[in-house]
Amino acid sequence: MSADSAVLSLVRELISRPSVTPDDVDCQMLLAQRLEQIGFRCETIARGGVTNLWARRGKSAPLIVFAGHTDVVPPGPRDKWDSDPFVPTERDGYLYGRGAADMKSSIAAFVVAAERFVAAHPQHEGSIALLITSDEEGPAVDGTVIVCDELKARGEQLDYCIVGEPTSGDTLGDTCKNGRRGSLSGRLTVKGIQGHVAYPHLARNPVHQLAPALAEIAATEWDRGNEYFPPTTFQVSNLRAGTGATNVVPGEAVVLFNFRFSTASTPDSLQARVHAILDKHGLEYDLDWELGGEPFLTPRGPLTDALVEAIRAETGVTAELSTTGGTSDGRFIAKICPQVIEFGPCNATIHKVNERIELAALEPLSNIYRRTLENLLLPR
Ligand SMILES: [Zn+2]
Repeated sequence: MSADSAVLSLVRELISRPSVTPDDVDCQMLLAQRLEQIGFRCETIARGGVTNLWARRGKSAPLIVFAGHTDVVPPGPRDKWDSDPFVPTERDGYLYGRGAADMKSSIAAFVVAAERFVAAHPQHEGSIALLITSDEEGPAVDGTVIVCDELKARGEQLDYCIVGEPTSGDTLGDTCKNGRRGSLSGRLTVKGIQGHVAYPHLARNPVHQLAPALAEIAATEWDRGNEYFPPTTFQVSNLRAGTGATNVVPGEAVVLFNFRFSTASTPDSLQARVHAILDKHGLEYDLDWELGGEPFLTPRGPLTDALVEAIRAETGVTAELSTTGGTSDGRFIAKICPQVIEFGPCNATIHKVNERIELAALEPLSNIYRRTLENLLLPR
């Protein structure tokens, strides 16, 4: 196999393994075999049917971690795909298959980047590690989070982390994520008294009580965001009440809602402000909160500079730093690593049928990761 197709060859092997969450189907064993050959110490940290790989080369600081996942989302109806989702297929300049963009190409690119970097600089300063889970697309309870707990317990000091999520938009390199918003959900039950609509004095309508409070919450400015984040947003995701009959005042009304919040707010501040509005309107209610993920932010600094410069050198594209999109495993890693950034291929087809990556993006993707290692680890 020529050096030029090393990334393609490895990503094809990974796509051939139908590693739907949480099954890893030995993807990680394949990675570990490659990494051990270039001096990585590999260990499996498994729990609850989830397999995680921690592979490290070197003992000194700084420690640079490439993070990602071998699991993929289910392909959906096979007959909607133009080729088998687990048979990597090249067509019209693209490689098709489940995981092609999210995120087996990034994983293959990590490994090849490490191989080429180590071959060129066998005595490099610092350390390189890979943190790979098979539980990113699922509940994410036995994945990256338990590896982070384990690393913290051992006192491992992480300095920089690059998560290989597909962050690019139209072109490889146009976007990196230097943070992600947090997610906070609530389930609000407003209690009323059920009764006949013709005898409202004998009932208490929770919808009538809820409406003005909800209007106030929906119109609230929670914060104005900051240099890196757009303002925090509130959205109602479900609202229900009533028996289905037109002559019955409902006994309760239930609202599900979600905040996507910036680092200008905290879960505590948002909760306190929602409770204050509900209390002001005199509602009798229960409110259950669930924190889906805390936000993280890596301000401009050595890691963002190293990556942005690597992208420019490889592709000529000037990357934009962005914090949009859903939560990712970056939220767990940011708790033990001061600088975390996400960068990977174009995300237009992720989780869709006919998921694909441009063949011409594979080598540049790996070269960007290798150049980032050079920028961080080689003396300037
Ligand atoms: Zn992903």
